[in-house]
Amino acid sequence: MQALYNPTWDLDAIFSGGSDSEEFRTYVENIKKEMATLSAMVEEFDRDSESMFIEILKQLESTMKKLQEASAFVSCLSAQNVKDEKADLLVGERNALSAEMNGIQTNFEQKMVSIEDAKWQELLKRPEVQDVSFILNESREAAKELLSGEQEVLINDLKVDGYHAWNQMYGTIVGKMSVDIEENGEINSYSVGQAANKLSHPDRKVRKHVFNQMEKAWKSEADLFGQTLNHLAGFRLQTYKHRKWENILKEPLQINRMKQETLDAMWTAITNSKKHFVAYLQKKADLLGLDKLSIYDIGAPLTNEVKTSSYTEGADFIVDQFRAFSPKMADFARMAFDKRWIEAEDRADKRPGGFCTSFPDSEQTRIFMTYSGTSSNISTLAHELGHAYHQHVMNDVNGFNQGYAMNVAETASTFAEMIVADATVKHAKNKEEKMALLEDKLQRSIAFFMNIHARFLFENRFYEERKKGIVSVNRLNELMVEAQREAYCNSLEQYEPNFWSSKLHFHITGVPFYNFPYTFGYLFSLGIYAYAKEKAGSFEEDYIALLRDTGRMNVEDLAMKHLNVDLTKPDFWENAISLCVADVEEFLSL
Ligand SMILES: [Zn+2]
Repeated sequence: MQALYNPTWDLDAIFSGGSDSEEFRTYVENIKKEMATLSAMVEEFDRDSESMFIEILKQLESTMKKLQEASAFVSCLSAQNVKDEKADLLVGERNALSAEMNGIQTNFEQKMVSIEDAKWQELLKRPEVQDVSFILNESREAAKELLSGEQEVLINDLKVDGYHAWNQMYGTIVGKMSVDIEENGEINSYSVGQAANKLSHPDRKVRKHVFNQMEKAWKSEADLFGQTLNHLAGFRLQTYKHRKWENILKEPLQINRMKQETLDAMWTAITNSKKHFVAYLQKKADLLGLDKLSIYDIGAPLTNEVKTSSYTEGADFIVDQFRAFSPKMADFARMAFDKRWIEAEDRADKRPGGFCTSFPDSEQTRIFMTYSGTSSNISTLAHELGHAYHQHVMNDVNGFNQGYAMNVAETASTFAEMIVADATVKHAKNKEEKMALLEDKLQRSIAFFMNIHARFLFENRFYEERKKGIVSVNRLNELMVEAQREAYCNSLEQYEPNFWSSKLHFHITGVPFYNFPYTFGYLFSLGIYAYAKEKAGSFEEDYIALLRDTGRMNVEDLAMKHLNVDLTKPDFWENAISLCVADVEEFLSL
């Protein structure tokens, strides 16, 4: 019999002693020293000194890695125990260090802009620089499109109490909200997060009641959320205006290293395939005995049957399924379970949700989640292992080239998740189980093709109107329902007008347009999955090569180089979507 895996992670292997770790303290003090040196080097940098430039690059890469290592450790500490106050202090310290590092990098970018073009081209050809030339050139070009150094510094400083403050204010209001829900003749008060979990209740009356109560709660604060969203967007647009950026998608596309044509091709292919997903929604309505679904019915369970597996069973299943596609990926997953790189225990005082974080200095990763044995837990575990494997194959890649954007960040994770989800469907014991598992997959397609499409349409239109002035709460509601009607092809009975306030992503200031990169990542990885099934034998090495390039080229070049496809044309996208359409067909046939 095989030994059982321990579901708690080993952080001591990185720094021993938790939030009291002496070893960690020493490590952080060293980072501070390195940053002071680095800052002085950048300050003194003479634009004609090539040797100094190379010196700074080396130092920057090394310090960035250490800072990421420290930052990951702090994230793990605060996630494993929300009551660890010492970890909270470390979070504050970490944030301050990151802000300081950003300052140093901005300063260095300005210095790069000051280097004359001819000289710059020569510099990029030097053997020590060649490997990171894409990234350096990208930063330099981006810096050129900004305002002067002083003005950008001022904007950044004002953001703290302006732009980012609106996002914080949003969080404060949401934190105070509660939703009253009637249960067994009593009124119980829940946080919005708790109430949202009840939306997947099997009884429609309960779902409808929870949904209405939630809408009521969001509506009661709509005037405040209208302000936070309008001002946050106003700050962003005002900055764009001064930089003379007209297209509101300029920044998000740039961050995701993709072209507008690629985004358009993706949405066009999705829009053209929607009839299949509408058919699935109609079938689901029939199965639930309804004429049409409402937005709160989409996540309703079709069966009550829930199969559970122990942590070790789940782990073995994942490793076995990975092996069919890639022995290296399977070996990596086994090692992660063996060495306890995963925190999966179901216990109190853990933060909700899941993540994977990397320790580039010690070339390790850690995964965080709560495993209670459901098939969706197994998917999450596979998803996070996909992220960890992505990092693993990049361990020896230059630190500058390890920074991949959100749209490709989800490639390896979704890919790993697909392998496991497909295998789970294949291994289903009976028709009910098979339908439930297929439905799990289809829910994802609905989320990426319809829900996220609605968010994208709404956000685009809202920003266009916001350019002309404040957008009223009524108008926001109208824009939201219009976008949902369009994205769901009018297939629902009831929509969610307050979604613009209930969805945190519209209020995030870290990244603009926190929506389409999800859909991109999903379809991009499905395209790779289709390619993997065709290529079988030689696939593993191709896949690793692709992952290793995710941080050093734009997505169009990445796809052309490794998959020989043109992302600006609909074919690639249509191919990827056809895998989801096949799920619909199988579901309908059952
Ligand atoms: Zn992910």
